[in-house]
Amino acid sequence: MSVRDNIARTEERIQRACERSGRRREEIRLMAVSKFQSLDAIAEAYQAGIRLFGESRVQEARAKFGSPLPGMADVELHCIGQLQRNKAKAAVQLFSCIQSVDRNELIMELAHQCQREQKHIDILLELHTGENSKTGYPDVNALSEGAELVLAYPQLHLRGLMTMAPYTDDTLLIRRSFKSLVAAQKTLHQQFPELTLDVLSMGMSNDFEIAIEEGSTLLRIGTALFKGDEP
Ligand SMILES: *Cc1c(COP(=O)(O)O)cnc(C)c1O
Repeated sequence: MSVRDNIARTEERIQRACERSGRRREEIRLMAVSKFQSLDAIAEAYQAGIRLFGESRVQEARAKFGSPLPGMADVELHCIGQLQRNKAKAAVQLFSCIQSVDRNELIMELAHQCQREQKHIDILLELHTGENSKTGYPDVNALSEGAELVLAYPQLHLRGLMTMAPYTDDTLLIRRSFKSLVAAQKTLHQQFPELTLDVLSMGMSNDFEIAIEEGSTLLRIGTALFKGDEP
C-alpha cells in the first residue's frame, strides 16, 4: 500500500470515529509523524494533502526540514520529542510549535532563545498520563506552575496540552489517560481564563479513534500513514 492509500484509509477511520462521537472532522488536525521517514515518503504525504508534520529529534528534523523543501513551502513542523536544553536554539529556529514541553527549565530556555532570535513560538505542555517513558509534567499542579511561567514570557504562546497514552491493548487505560488530559485542560482553563488552551494533542496509530471519542483536536500519526494499519 502506498502512503496515499494509507492516508485515505486513516482518513476514513477518522471520519467514522467523528460520526460515532458526534464531532466535526474540521475540529481535528492530522499530523504525519515523519520521524525515521525519508524525504520521498514525506513528499508523498504532502502530495496526498498533509501539511502538518511532526519530528522527535532536532538533528533529524534539521537534516530533513532545515532548508525549504522544493514545492512544499507551506509545511508546518512541530517538535513532539523530548527536547534537551542545549537544542532549544535550533528547535526555535526549526519548529513553529514545541508540543513536548515537559519542564520549567525548558520553558525558560525556549523563552531566552526566542528573545535572541526575535521569534514567537507556540507551545503545548505535555502531561504524563501513564505512558512508560515518564516524559511530561507529572500532575496538574506541576502543569499549572508551568502555565503560570509561560504567561510571563510574551514570546511563548501556550496553545494547549499534549499527552501519550500507555502502549497497551487495554482500552480502559488508554481512555483514562486521555480523560485526564481533558480534565487538566478544564482545570487550567478555570485557573487561567485568559489562555485559549484549545489544542488537545492526543492519539497515535494504535489509539487515535479513542482519542477522537475523548476530544482530541490533533492526532499525531506515524505508522498507520507511512507503513499502513495492517499488522
Ligand atoms: C512516534 C510518535 C508518534 C507516532 O506514533 P505511531 O504509533 O507511529 O503513530 C506520536 N507521538 C509521539 C510523541 C511519538 O514519539
